[in-house]
Amino acid sequence: MAVPQNKITRSRRGNRRSHDSLVADNPNECPNCGELKRPHHVCGACGHYADREVVAVVDDVEIDEDAA
Ligand SMILES: [Zn+2]
Repeated sequence: MAVPQNKITRSRRGNRRSHDSLVADNPNECPNCGELKRPHHVCGACGHYADREVVAVVDDVEIDEDAA
């Protein structure tokens, strides 16, 4: 089994992990519905991208529980 040759001090470990934090999203408003959406992504609420509908959004999908 591979074993570290030298101890990593708390300081060095902390320095390495200083770049590990997650950064928050930078959402912007959908020009169609005003919902917040990720930049350069289709709006999850209305399916629009760049002022045109690219994904049809349905209100309710019927699922047959007895099937399969
Ligand atoms: Zn939208």
